[in-house]
Amino acid sequence: MLNLTYNYKLEPTAKQIEIIEHNLKVCKSVWNYALYIRKLWYNSRSCDINKCSIISEYVVSPFEYPNYHAQSSALTKAKKTNPFLKSGNAQAMQQTLRKLDRAFNDMKSKGMGFPRYKKKMKSFNILSNKFEINGNSLKMPLLKNVKLRKSRDIPDGFKIKQVQILKKASGYYANLMIELDVDIPSPLPHGHAVGVDVGIKSMLSTSDGLIIHRPKFLNKALRKIKLLQRKLKNKDIGSEKWNKLQRKIALLHEAVANRRKDYHFKLARQLTSGVGMIFVEDINFTSWSKGIFCKQSLDMALGQFFNILEYVCSVTDTYFSKVDKNFTSQICPNCGTHTGKKTLDIRVHKCNECGYEQDRDIAAAEVVCNRGLTAVGAPVVKLPSNGVLAGTTV
Ligand SMILES: [Zn+2]
Repeated sequence: MLNLTYNYKLEPTAKQIEIIEHNLKVCKSVWNYALYIRKLWYNSRSCDINKCSIISEYVVSPFEYPNYHAQSSALTKAKKTNPFLKSGNAQAMQQTLRKLDRAFNDMKSKGMGFPRYKKKMKSFNILSNKFEINGNSLKMPLLKNVKLRKSRDIPDGFKIKQVQILKKASGYYANLMIELDVDIPSPLPHGHAVGVDVGIKSMLSTSDGLIIHRPKFLNKALRKIKLLQRKLKNKDIGSEKWNKLQRKIALLHEAVANRRKDYHFKLARQLTSGVGMIFVEDINFTSWSKGIFCKQSLDMALGQFFNILEYVCSVTDTYFSKVDKNFTSQICPNCGTHTGKKTLDIRVHKCNECGYEQDRDIAAAEVVCNRGLTAVGAPVVKLPSNGVLAGTTV
């Protein structure tokens, strides 16, 4: 099964905008209420039954854990008596509950944060097998026929499975999730291998000697945003001028995000061309962005870049794998000796054992590449020092 997502700008009529806005509102209430019930469950079990907390205690009669199925059937029941819920699209509401369920699962499995209440809902999903594109309009349940800017054609044979209606500062968009019923084997390790090391000084370095510096083209837009935000402070909240400035800032943010994403795609394409395998470090960017690298790392959005790189690899038949990130800058790529910790100002790796000399970041990328290669094929070689294994994957 091959799944792709195509994004189109919508040109809805005033009536359709009203429908979209109304459904966003309904979905927001569904999200917030479902989250409230889940929070209630968590709080009601936050302390042992034989002791009370000093500050306050939740007193609710015990109830089953509100999982997706429980909440979904509760929603169906509530719709019978609540006209506001009844006015919303049933599919969109169910999908909102599913999204919340996923958020809780991600919290447990991936260590993401506790889901939050939403001030604004930005999107809702609709599942159906009745989507159709005729010329410049998308036929779908809820909105009937909605005009879209057909920036590209959907490839032959693909079927639209799901549509996400998205609200951004610059208008309304549709994410079309399309599917082709073919068996695509996941890429196998082959061909030329490249290791990628990411950092702060240079955004990334490859074992082939390519160094990409932190893109500066976002700085100009970010400076502009800062300036506008300073202006915003002097305006009355909710006034016309305040609203206008808010909109301007939102548009700039969107432009920055678009430019960054475009850059990431181009960079990923560049890295994968003529390459059979790509290895990257397995980094937890959430904890990274909380540390000293906060500003820069958020700016580069390396987590997003890795996701995009993985996606581009999957469509260009390039093997993608993550390897252990520890000690990449301390091990000699040539002989495997542990050369000790380098401070950030030491830019060159120099090995006392074998005399190998290389740029520090490129040497780290070479270590990543070696680890990847060992993990996919060659036997794991035990390194001579400190017992660190070369090919351990996480
Ligand atoms: Zn060495």
